[in-house]
Amino acid sequence: MRTPKKFVLLGATGSIGTSTLRVLRKHPDKLKLIGVSAHSRARELANIVDEFDVAHAHLNRKIDDMPNFREGTNLTFEAEALDHLAAHPEAEIVVVALVGAAGLRPTLAALEAGKKVVLANKESLVVGGQLVTETACRTGGQIIPADSEHNAVFQCTMGQPTNSLDSIILTASGGAFRDLPLGELKNVTLKQALNHPNWSMGPKVTIDSATMANKGLELIEAHWLFGLAPEKLEAVIHPPSLVHAFVRFVDGCCFAQLSPPSMTFALQNSLLHPKRFPGVEPTLDFSNPLDLSFSPPCLKRYPCLKLAQEALHQGGSAPLVFNAANELAVEAFQMNRIGFIQISSIIEHSLSIMESCNPKSLNELLDHDQRVRRLASERINSLSD
Ligand code: NAD
Ligand code: MG
Repeated sequence: MRTPKKFVLLGATGSIGTSTLRVLRKHPDKLKLIGVSAHSRARELANIVDEFDVAHAHLNRKIDDMPNFREGTNLTFEAEALDHLAAHPEAEIVVVALVGAAGLRPTLAALEAGKKVVLANKESLVVGGQLVTETACRTGGQIIPADSEHNAVFQCTMGQPTNSLDSIILTASGGAFRDLPLGELKNVTLKQALNHPNWSMGPKVTIDSATMANKGLELIEAHWLFGLAPEKLEAVIHPPSLVHAFVRFVDGCCFAQLSPPSMTFALQNSLLHPKRFPGVEPTLDFSNPLDLSFSPPCLKRYPCLKLAQEALHQGGSAPLVFNAANELAVEAFQMNRIGFIQISSIIEHSLSIMESCNPKSLNELLDHDQRVRRLASERINSLSD
């Protein structure tokens, strides 16, 4: 019998982390968890360490009421320790399931160590796509896309000649406000924005789905993963989220990947690739009618998607600016400091003010990211005064 593949899970307490653990419970003979991280949910992290007998755990910060971790756990708190965990010599796979640009550093650390990175954290590619892909190329590290749309493309292109790919079409549910009259968008609440029609996800990506900033980030992610020009990347609205992406080949034939809207399918595929085993959840039921409708997104409803597409075309630091401004604006919306429709105006303002440049190294990228955050935060302060 083959020994289980050892892996590290960064962002273990989140939505993607939880789905990854469901895959692990189903396949304990094929996977062994050796390291986990979380931001501050110490008790949940301690429970994961107990259940899966995990040797290494990392928390971003200590909380007042720290739980006891099981005896022998190597528990760390310093920022560098997260990079070390991502590069742990025993790990074959590193799942990056942190949210936001905070995923860039550990993704790079894992790739620098030549790991197979199961990447859910799209922001790291949006912020540092060139550095991330060049690092993987240089070290032989591999990026396996776990974002459902990109994992769908990964599956559809498997075994196809690389020069046969023409274009990619990512599907989007349209989020919580797909059918709301446009005039009512200015009054929507956080609770309504968090009520996603199909997917159960963390708060940031759920709000990003309602604005379709998420699909914008995913178009930029697809650009770096599959090497296509911006005009070869499209987004379509597909309300039930059964088809995750289409791949169009040069001869005009389109492939699609279908599965129910749950991340366990994409995560199992990326963790156990290239083999296939029974999944965690039931598959699609074709004995009932399935809705396979697709329509182009209305950019008036989704200005964040338009801004992301423009940032992708512009290149350089524009996607980083889009991402940092979006992260701050979403946070401000969550704190009830700005309204839903102001999210796009904060991004637009940051993109118009920040001079275009081409940060290359990790430090340059992080510096630029901080500058955008300062600017966006000033703008938020001026709007919420
Ligand atoms: P989440 O908020 O549910 O979980 C985030 C995890 O990261 C938690 O474990 C949290 O403790 C940790 N974390 C948060 N901030 C951190 C920081 N600054 N440093 C270190 N750790 C931190 O988020 P999620 O929905 O699981 O999404 C994670 C990533 O996966 C995002 O990039 C998201 O866009 C992407 N993604 C999510 C889904 C989904 O279904 N949830 C689908 C596709 C892609
Ligand atoms: Mg996705």
